[in-house]
Amino acid sequence: MKKLSTTIKRPTKKLLLVGAGHAHIGLLRRLANKRLDDLEDVEISIITEQPQTIYSGMLPGWMAGHYNLSDISIDITELCKRARVTLVQRPIIAVDANTQTVTTAQEEHFHYDLLSLNTGADTDMTWLKTDALADVALENTVIPVRPIFNFVAQWQQILEQAKQTSCYKVAVVGAGAAATELVMAAQFALQQINPNHQAYLVCGEHLLSSFDTGFRVRVIKQLQRHNIEIIYQRAQGLTNEELVTSAQTLAVDAVIAATGVMGSAWTNQTNLATVDGGFIAVNDKQQSTSHDNVFAVGDVATRADREMAHSGVHAVFGGKVAADNLLAYLASETLARYQPKNRTLYLLACGDKYAIGSWGSFSVEGRWVWWLKHYIDKRFVNSHK
Ligand SMILES: Cc1cc2nc3c(=O)[nH]c(=O)nc-3n(C[C@H](O)[C@H](O)[C@H](O)COP(=O)(O)OP(=O)(O)OC[C@H]3O[C@@H](n4cnc5c(N)ncnc54)[C@H](O)[C@@H]3O)c2cc1C
Repeated sequence: MKKLSTTIKRPTKKLLLVGAGHAHIGLLRRLANKRLDDLEDVEISIITEQPQTIYSGMLPGWMAGHYNLSDISIDITELCKRARVTLVQRPIIAVDANTQTVTTAQEEHFHYDLLSLNTGADTDMTWLKTDALADVALENTVIPVRPIFNFVAQWQQILEQAKQTSCYKVAVVGAGAAATELVMAAQFALQQINPNHQAYLVCGEHLLSSFDTGFRVRVIKQLQRHNIEIIYQRAQGLTNEELVTSAQTLAVDAVIAATGVMGSAWTNQTNLATVDGGFIAVNDKQQSTSHDNVFAVGDVATRADREMAHSGVHAVFGGKVAADNLLAYLASETLARYQPKNRTLYLLACGDKYAIGSWGSFSVEGRWVWWLKHYIDKRFVNSHK
């Protein structure tokens, strides 16, 4: 009997990536450098809001004028071309994990076999919604640092306004590392325009509470060096161009919010398991706890099995594990676990070319720390070009 020489083509699987955050950028770079053989029967697409991703670690340096926007941006369109991944530039608004469908703001529906979510998070603006000041309009008068793409446009407007006046005042609300970097960058940039301009940090009762005392003392010293007034009160809202805190009102021209993260709006429209009001619940393999063909990583996800802060470091390192697991899942292989290191290097920019570094309870500062940060950040962004 004659042997049939026909090869049986396996059905194509659809791998859908949503959001061009740290993890997906890493995966795209991997695909751009080397097309993986086991992905021959896989159709890969990415849906993301913007054609560029702005690297948050260099955002304060850009605000302070040390970088151009192109220095801190990763070109997703170009990366997708090199990786041979289809780019759909849209925001998503819903994920139905039962029908395996992602819906965009334009009401298009994208089917997937395997889904990976890396859409980051929104700035937590719930502090504005106190009973006394409940007013949706207030939210529009405060500039959240996330989404970063919008913030970039708004910061440019702030600088333009500051050029038109003799005394411009900006308050940064927040008590974490990002808030302190932003306020020092703001003060540095504004005082280059006019030494009368002033930035304030409104941080509630505790500043940098998750950091070691030595590091906190160094940061406070740098805030003082820049003559930034630290207001240890809780911000509550804005009325008639005055920032209302728990104990006073402060006349300001602009308010920037770096008040932590909350789940992005689309997570209200999903049947994936979520925790803490809108973060996708994942296990130690970065896999949804409710649907095993969905992975989520970075700020959009929260580990269900342990406490872990939302940070760029976990987005990058967890992202590597998530990318490996997507490939392993397609090949029906064993999935790896993400075990974060106990200590990570944190480098905090202080407006001018000066920085503070921390490693556990050890901390250092100086101009050389800024150059070290500059080198690491540049290398990260350039590795995607
Ligand atoms: C000023 C500042 C400095 C920081 N410095 C550090 C630091 O030094 N070290 C550190 O560890 N962390 C730092 N962070 C925190 C860090 O930025 C975040 O933890 C990190 O960016 C999270 O990365 P991600 O991959 O989850 O998502 P992101 O980097 O936020 O990317 C999300 C992506 O998803 C896209 N997207 C969002 N919504 C949608 C949607 N609905 N549909 C489609 N696409 C969407 C976005 O356009 C973007 O491409 C800093 C944060 C700020 C604000």
